Amino acid sequence: MKSVIVVGAGIWGSSLALRLAETGWQVTLVEQHRPGHVRQSSAGETRLLRCSHGDDDWYARLAWQARDGWRRLEERAGEELYHEAGMVWFARTPDGWEHRSAQVLKNLDIPCEVLDPSDGRRFFPELRADDLRFLLWEPHAGVLRARRATQVTAALAVASGVRLVRARAVPVAGYAAPYQAAVEIDGEVRHADRVVWACGAWLPAIFDDVPVTVTKQDTLHFAVPSAWSVPETPAWVDHGASAYGHGDVDGVGMKATSDAEGEPYEPEHGSREVDAAGVERARAYLRRRFPSLAQAPVLFSQVCQYALTPDAEWIVDEVSPGVWLFGGDSGHGFKHGPALAGYVAGVLDGDHAPEPRFGLHERIPSRGLRTSGQVL
Ligand SMILES: Cc1cc2nc3c(=O)[nH]c(=O)nc-3n(C[C@H](O)[C@H](O)[C@H](O)COP(=O)(O)OP(=O)(O)OC[C@H]3O[C@@H](n4cnc5c(N)ncnc54)[C@H](O)[C@@H]3O)c2cc1C
Repeated sequence: MKSVIVVGAGIWGSSLALRLAETGWQVTLVEQHRPGHVRQSSAGETRLLRCSHGDDDWYARLAWQARDGWRRLEERAGEELYHEAGMVWFARTPDGWEHRSAQVLKNLDIPCEVLDPSDGRRFFPELRADDLRFLLWEPHAGVLRARRATQVTAALAVASGVRLVRARAVPVAGYAAPYQAAVEIDGEVRHADRVVWACGAWLPAIFDDVPVTVTKQDTLHFAVPSAWSVPETPAWVDHGASAYGHGDVDGVGMKATSDAEGEPYEPEHGSREVDAAGVERARAYLRRRFPSLAQAPVLFSQVCQYALTPDAEWIVDEVSPGVWLFGGDSGHGFKHGPALAGYVAGVLDGDHAPEPRFGLHERIPSRGLRTSGQVL
């Protein structure tokens, strides 16, 4: 039986552990805290699932496959993890990111509709749309209950035979290669056929020369009237203004927050208090787009972190024989969890090589997979 040690029980590591256990691997999952602990990126209250990725069809296809994966996971867990409330993209130009996304979705037969800004009243109790050229509607996009989904995935992995070890793993240097397919835990070296480091924002502190920058990201949920709840109020993204959110899920309030990249951050000890400036920015956006919510109080907030590569493409690469880095999610990797696990399991099984884009080569800075990065 092939053996693997997966380090990190966020959604990437937990999903991969589950997938490998189900396909005949002997799996050890090492996590320094607990699956779903609040410092990990996967422990956000919610995460959006959308297929639009501008020009890129690879991520669009993977997100569409992941939707099925989440549905299967829900069935197994016997609880709702994905609210398919749909998503409205606010397009400020006729031929920009949303237009290109719509072309890709149509080519892939992923349902979407291009609508007039006045159709916004179908989706929101109120929408100021005088600066918009059109709306892109993704009916099968929606909101994942992220922290819960991470805990459920890890629990299903354990139920499928994964051995979960609570410890901090350290790489083991070798002679012929920089690292051995092994980890050190409390002074003991454990070997496996493969070791996968799925350590999120901790990855650049563990391995040198990993092109990942970690930034502090504040998320905010506002107390709103009940009409602003999922599924009546869907998810929304303003790509041009780097703003996004969704209707209230589980009573934590309507999410309205910024995707613009925050200050450099250390995930283990960094402050978990949100900045006043972020609250003001979110409120300014509400004032512009949903004016009646401008004074809504903050009901719930979280600090999370992005693990950003320069081009927002992920890292799936073998750094020494049998030693894989799996990270650099760049703030857009939750939705893909189950489908990405299948893809990486195929890489570890030798069925296919990882895409060249995921390699540890020099990355050319570019945007395009999340939002514009502009704060308007
Ligand atoms: C504010 C915010 C909003 C986001 N919105 C979206 C969205 O709408 N849609 C979307 O798809 N994605 C979104 N993302 C991105 C998504 O959350 C991440 O892509 C995803 O959670 C990454 O999961 P991960 O498993 O790689 O990392 P993590 O969840 O951070 O897990 C890494 C784990 O590794 C463990 N670890 C690290 N080092 C060690 C060690 N040495 N030994 C043992 N354990 C270790 C850590 O404790 C941690 O639990 C968002 C992220 C943020 C911060």
